[in-house]
Amino acid sequence: MGAVTTTYDPTDPSYHDEADLRRELTRVFDLCHGCRLCLSLCPSFPTMFDQIDARDGAVDELQPAEQDRVVDECYQCKLCYVKCPYVPPHEWQLDFPRLMLRAVSVRRESAKGLPALRERVSTEVLGRTDLLGRAASAVAPLANRALGTPGSLLRRAMEGLAGVSAERVLPPYAKVRFSTWFRARSASGAGRSGRAEQGKAAIFPTCLVEYQDPAIGQDLVKVYERNRVGCSLVEGAVCCGAPFLHSGDFDGFLRQARRNLPGLARAVRSGSDVVVPQPTCGYVLKRDYPEHLGSADARLVAEHTYDAAEYLWRLHRGEGTELDTDFTGEVPATTAYHLPCHLQAQNIGLRSRDLLKLTGTKVTLVSKCSGIDGMWGLRSANYDQARAVARPLVEALRRADAEVVAGDCRLANGAISEETGRTPLHPLQLLARAYGIPEEPREQ
Ligand code: SF4
Ligand code: SF4
Repeated sequence: MGAVTTTYDPTDPSYHDEADLRRELTRVFDLCHGCRLCLSLCPSFPTMFDQIDARDGAVDELQPAEQDRVVDECYQCKLCYVKCPYVPPHEWQLDFPRLMLRAVSVRRESAKGLPALRERVSTEVLGRTDLLGRAASAVAPLANRALGTPGSLLRRAMEGLAGVSAERVLPPYAKVRFSTWFRARSASGAGRSGRAEQGKAAIFPTCLVEYQDPAIGQDLVKVYERNRVGCSLVEGAVCCGAPFLHSGDFDGFLRQARRNLPGLARAVRSGSDVVVPQPTCGYVLKRDYPEHLGSADARLVAEHTYDAAEYLWRLHRGEGTELDTDFTGEVPATTAYHLPCHLQAQNIGLRSRDLLKLTGTKVTLVSKCSGIDGMWGLRSANYDQARAVARPLVEALRRADAEVVAGDCRLANGAISEETGRTPLHPLQLLARAYGIPEEPREQ
């Protein structure tokens, strides 16, 4: 994957020109209409094909509102990028997800009045994850009571002001942040085994693990240490910027990326690999940082960034490294494993599924979208459609009827929990239990 082309480069003035964007939408829709490979991936493609078919194939007759509907129904899962044979360097230079982002960005710039204000407030509310996370973790029980009741007055007010669906169950905040736990543990000397290390991992915790589900990070550290991998924290890590990028706010995205890069690059230069336990954020570090920043540091970091399960699989398969496969702890007879879109888009194979199989559990793979994809499914405007997108996933999980549900994406897991009443675990949490590593006690 190379640098972004002019058509998709936000620093090129023509990127922001609406007429130029509309022409590019027409060009790409025409190519897609002739191809139709992505018909079943998401709502955007069937909507587009129906609109063009209704005009007997005259793609240039589509109205801006029709093009915009296709844009609104894209939730940036990236699967069409993975599937498309015409992505750069092909001469057709087709990058559908980036075209959708460009359309969102151009509309964001030209929007006026109340819709524009609401869009900006929504991005700020959903994007300022560090600010919110720090404040909410400090008063976690109170914040969780206030935000954790779907349909409450506060949630309705939030929906009116910021467009965050009042019906969604939002992940609760933890009282003790992951980084606080990690530093206290390191200071106490826990985790030092004296055995020779076979790797060094700098953890980029992601907002979801840092503020909402530190248990994932805690199990990651213990599983890695069991496998003789020394763990550290990426210094100065903040939100990767995905919420801004997916809202078309490139300045916001670049601001986050530039804050993260020095700490990430320092970790790599000191001999660590970067490990990310949340698929969307891993994708952003691997693909979006080098493409949008284009710097040597961004490329260096991308080359040394791994999904949490991908890293362990490399130990298992690598020369001179090994994975401990002595699973004497709790192993469920059956596990339904959900493969998140942004992990699939990383093209790394089914590493979490493969690790789970090593424990001895019988795994059913469920590769269906949860309809959340970052912030898309959290917006009130998308709530009904997001639930419709998630229906095949819910059905597949019901059919699997497994003892345990696992999934790498904390956001998708939230949607699964909301729809099925079951609480999925991150695959590394199942691995920890399979090693006999007990769950860290939670501070209430
Ligand atoms: S990125 Fe995903 S949601 Fe968007 S158009 Fe492609 S397949 Fe559809
Ligand atoms: S994105 Fe590519 S693969 Fe998908 S329909 Fe369009 S041209 Fe075909």
